[in-house]
Amino acid sequence: MDNQYLCPHCRGHLRVGDFIIFRIRNNRREKGLLLLHPEVGNYSSIKHPKFHFEEGERIDFYCPICMQNLDAAMDENLVHVLMIDPDGNEQEIYFSRIAGEKSTYQVSPEGVKATGEHSHRYTHFKMSDELIQYLNT
Ligand SMILES: [Zn+2]
Repeated sequence: MDNQYLCPHCRGHLRVGDFIIFRIRNNRREKGLLLLHPEVGNYSSIKHPKFHFEEGERIDFYCPICMQNLDAAMDENLVHVLMIDPDGNEQEIYFSRIAGEKSTYQVSPEGVKATGEHSHRYTHFKMSDELIQYLNT
């Protein structure tokens, strides 16, 4: 498992050691850092115990390097990053920014791979041909 993660804006590396690092903001506009597991479909995360958010809360994700917002253009509930797999292939990764929602989509020229028990919620990814067309425009 050697996936690398890049910010789609600055292409800075978001993975350090065994974590992907994000700057986040909760509904009360409090800022913090969130560490996510680099394995797709592993939803374990680490944050400071004093930084709180509730299940169902929509968290803002930012690149900790360039500070750009990582919202996906096609859906305001999804975060967009790039992943380089161990073979050097680049894929688009989309995941839910709703706390507790387990939905991840890997988009590559071969198609879309959905992971997570809530991945049926974002139906654009069922229309994968149209999505790929959208991503290429
Ligand atoms: Zn960036």
